[in-house]
Amino acid sequence: MSQDLDAFDTSPGASPLKTALRFLSGVGAARAALLEKLDLRVVEEVLWRLPRDVLDLTRVKSPADLVEGELQTVRGVIAETDARETRKGTLVATLLDCGDDFVRGLWFNAPWMRPKLQPGTRWLFSGKPKKKDGRWEFSHPRLQMLSEDDDESHGGVVTRYGLTEGLRQHEMKRVVHAALEHGGDSIADPLSEEFAKANSLISLKTAVRQVHEPRSMAEYESARRRLLFDDLLEFQVGVALRRRLWGRRSNAPLLPVTAKIDSRIRRLFPFALTAGQNAAVREIVADLQSGRAMHRLLQADVGAGKTVVAIYAMLVAIAAQHQAVLMAPTELLALQHWRTIDGFLEGSRVRRALLTGSLTESKRREIRDQMANGELDLVVGTQAVIQEGVSFAKLGVAVIDEQHKFGVAQRSKFAGQSSAAPHVLVMTATPIPRSLCLTQFGDLDLTSVRDQPPGRQRIVTSRVTGATSRRKAWEFIRLRLQQGRQLYVVCPVIDGEESTGRAGASQVFEQLQQTELAGLRVGLVHGQLDRDQRDQTMEDFRNGELDAIVATTVIEVGVDVPNATLMVVLEAERFGLSQLHQLRGRIGRGVHQGYCFLFSESNTPEATARLSALEASSDGFEIAEKDFELRGPGDVLGTRQHGELPLRSADLIRDKDLLEETRTAAMQLVESGRIDTAEFAPLKLAVLDRFAELMELPRTG
Ligand code: ADP
Ligand code: MG
Repeated sequence: MSQDLDAFDTSPGASPLKTALRFLSGVGAARAALLEKLDLRVVEEVLWRLPRDVLDLTRVKSPADLVEGELQTVRGVIAETDARETRKGTLVATLLDCGDDFVRGLWFNAPWMRPKLQPGTRWLFSGKPKKKDGRWEFSHPRLQMLSEDDDESHGGVVTRYGLTEGLRQHEMKRVVHAALEHGGDSIADPLSEEFAKANSLISLKTAVRQVHEPRSMAEYESARRRLLFDDLLEFQVGVALRRRLWGRRSNAPLLPVTAKIDSRIRRLFPFALTAGQNAAVREIVADLQSGRAMHRLLQADVGAGKTVVAIYAMLVAIAAQHQAVLMAPTELLALQHWRTIDGFLEGSRVRRALLTGSLTESKRREIRDQMANGELDLVVGTQAVIQEGVSFAKLGVAVIDEQHKFGVAQRSKFAGQSSAAPHVLVMTATPIPRSLCLTQFGDLDLTSVRDQPPGRQRIVTSRVTGATSRRKAWEFIRLRLQQGRQLYVVCPVIDGEESTGRAGASQVFEQLQQTELAGLRVGLVHGQLDRDQRDQTMEDFRNGELDAIVATTVIEVGVDVPNATLMVVLEAERFGLSQLHQLRGRIGRGVHQGYCFLFSESNTPEATARLSALEASSDGFEIAEKDFELRGPGDVLGTRQHGELPLRSADLIRDKDLLEETRTAAMQLVESGRIDTAEFAPLKLAVLDRFAELMELPRTG
């Protein structure tokens, strides 16, 4: 949101939409301060802040008017709630006092419902009721809690906003009303009538009014659709413009691939590429020969062999007398890539170096000098190190690994650095759900590798709950360890807390050596140990001098020990789905069958759904979609801050269909050039206002 000084402009002639909230009637300085906590400073910000929730009271019925089997809503106060055990499990039952009669609400096997349904609280129950023993029953109704503040004066559709402490619902509504009075008429519509009509959209002015003060659900829905449509369309047009800009950069190096170069590169690998890898290579080669800068996202499931594809691209650059760089987000990953690449290149004349923060300053300077004067062909390093004012003599291909830990903004920073546009290949460690991909990476061309190198086995994954199952799992594991296999034990944290019994790696390491792993050689690896020690332990594990290591998620990436085929994840419910999938990818690397045990005592529906999804599927693409559905974009992207999208109110999960629709519309507008016509000038202006800086779009042209 805009935080510039001109946002507070109150000079005559300034748009009423930019008026600071404290100047609105009925909003003093104190309330303005509360609103600021909600990131609301000026009138238009209030207008764009959609209600969090809406209650449809138009369809509330009295129990006497209910009809069997139709979707209906009743309103009342909880009289009493109880839970009892039946042969089929726990049954929670509540009695809702609707004034003239009671109805019953029933929940099977959902014990957590009981404390929610406190006597005296007011609710809406929506569902299809059945009559039993003279009383209407709602089984698992949809619930909405009512507060005293929920203004029912018009008895129609009640909007509810996200609040902050000290600000009440009716006060917020007064602010919204004042904002509508003050700025509602100044809203300009960035879409032409014709375009709006073609996309079944109502006018923006009407939409803003109706979303805040709807008279029916239909009004509310059409208003909401219009606002979300604009939110997503503007974002997608920005992405499409950025894509067009990339496509127009035609000063990229021409990197030809002859049959001779191709076979020289392939000879370096001790295996033939898979069909998926070959397809990816073909797409990349076409880009490198096009004269236009490649801007491509390579996504593949863990273990599918992205590194090989990246190496191919870099070697094409080097064969054409250009340089190549591979950037990883962490030192550990950079080192892992370095080892792989250095291994494949053994005996080749490619001049190469690893550049990380742990080198001495003088060594780092030396490498930088060699990059700048062209004495190095290939550099592997962390992004931080490489971006610190490094220049390349002749950069041809840049590979960015695990880009999803960074955002659109970070990516453009790199691309803007060198004058001649290098070809950029972005790789992600885990597949990204389609809708996220469309937004975060919508400006990139997409290559997916969907197959795996031959001989990979599906990892057997089981959820383990209760003492008996745990004992059996450990018996199984000990047997395999005796046969020479190796084990990872993954803990959610380094230090557990005595009080909560959390599984901390340090404690688990001590405990297991007294109990389940007594007599075996066990190591400990986590992020707080110093690097030499950690590397030494990993090396010992790799060499078979340790039977097991207890670790945190530091082993998530960059560990490749084919003989390690067993994994125990403690408190598995505390990890993300994609993260668990990535973790178990560590034990699918050799000839022996891998077994992953997800220990979890949590039986919330969310934990159950997540862990079952993992038991059922071994497809990273499928799992990523599920993870996204269950946890939202921030968590899937790994870091909440970077994962946040600059959207006003759209939600990528809930509004998935609208996302596709606006994506198509945006691509058409930009590709056809209609976006540059007078009809769409206001839309383009709106897009640039919101995204020019973030997406590095020029204000003109
Ligand atoms: P990821 O896509 O997870 O980064 P890697 O590039 O690390 O996968 O590859 C995983 C493993 O598979 C590595 O040990 C690599 O050498 C091996 N590998 C890659 N491609 C092939 C192939 N075509 N045939 C056999 N093994 C392969
Ligand atoms: Mg990899």
